[in-house]
Amino acid sequence: MNIEENKDLTALNTFGMSVKAKYYIRVSSDEDVRQAVLFAKEVNFPLLVLSGGSNMLFTEDIKAVVIHMDTHGIEKIGADGTDTLVKVKAGENWHNFVMWSIDNNLAGAENLAFIPGRVGSSPVQNIGAYGVEAKDVIESVNAFDVHSGKNRIFSKKECLFGYRESVFKGADKGKYIIMDVVFRLHSPEGYSLKLDYGNIRSELEKRNIITPNIADVATVVTDIRRAKLPDPEKIGNCGSFFKNPVLDKKTFESLKEKYPDMPCFDVPDSTDEHYKKVPAAWLIDRAGWKGYRRGNVGVHENQALVLVHYGGGTGGEVMALCRDICADVKAKYGVAISAEVNIVDASFLHTVY
Ligand SMILES: Cc1cc2nc3c(=O)[nH]c(=O)nc-3n(C[C@H](O)[C@H](O)[C@H](O)COP(=O)(O)OP(=O)(O)OC[C@H]3O[C@@H](n4cnc5c(N)ncnc54)[C@H](O)[C@@H]3O)c2cc1C
Repeated sequence: MNIEENKDLTALNTFGMSVKAKYYIRVSSDEDVRQAVLFAKEVNFPLLVLSGGSNMLFTEDIKAVVIHMDTHGIEKIGADGTDTLVKVKAGENWHNFVMWSIDNNLAGAENLAFIPGRVGSSPVQNIGAYGVEAKDVIESVNAFDVHSGKNRIFSKKECLFGYRESVFKGADKGKYIIMDVVFRLHSPEGYSLKLDYGNIRSELEKRNIITPNIADVATVVTDIRRAKLPDPEKIGNCGSFFKNPVLDKKTFESLKEKYPDMPCFDVPDSTDEHYKKVPAAWLIDRAGWKGYRRGNVGVHENQALVLVHYGGGTGGEVMALCRDICADVKAKYGVAISAEVNIVDASFLHTVY
């Protein structure tokens, strides 16, 4: 295990923010993870777990031990009826895992193709796209408790999954390092493909695919995403910067009356308090921010939800823009929007000693 000091993290976060980590350890085995945590305890530094760096905004140098997850392995570990259980190490690239599932003729993850990042982060924020969330395919999560040094298996229920939420981001934030995830994938026979979200169906029709299979869905989703979302290799970004707000019934109805064209989505198990979800992109776009640029940062010209870094900027500049957008949306629509991306400053770091 190699411990690097003052490591430049520019290439390790998709926003491309130039910050340094006091200590950086790339871990390629479970034992490395244990040793890295012991090292953090020894030097009395907090921890930061870094995977693909595609959901983190670095706002300053990281005075921590950064553990970079690079463990690999995908293994079928059992069957349950027509389902297959697959254990995947945390450092595997998410899209590679999805493509592995397609190559192995296993259904369930195809709508989640081409989401950046690594497998270990997928439960943290319960990644989702095109009507499917990681929770729909996760069976359990094996996590290392940084305080006790013991592993704990979380059942799906114990992960407390919600919209871009989980116990790993909530009550137990920073307490666990996810080592591997077990997925429950299905036999394609008798499995219903999810084609009704976004333009999956119309893309399939354009390609004259009448009876699509899981590979067709993964290909179409990948192509749509490539065309729609900015490539972090070309322009720094973390995908959707903001969460879609869930409105209460009263706020939703009064806004809908004012703006009949306002799109909305149903919320599972909705109540008057949590009534409908409204696209933050619509609110930000309508408030006039799409394509706005301020110095080194801005709002993407085609995607109002995506904040971008043109280079040479700082996380502080992105945060200043984020705050102004949130305040403007609140003033114009009375709706509070918030960041989906993890804002990494001193308060984000987790102390292990
Ligand atoms: C162009 C683009 C498009 C995107 N599209 C989507 C999308 O459609 N849907 C979606 O949900 N997200 C999307 N994202 C966001 C991002 O891809 C996901 O949040 C992804 O899961 C982040 O993975 P990562 O490995 O990069 O995590 P990181 O950014 O490295 O980490 C994210 C968080 O998880 C923690 N973490 C990471 N690994 C572990 C671990 N092993 N154990 C414990 N904690 C850990 C980190 O400490 C941090 O808090 C997009 C991002 C980009 C750049």
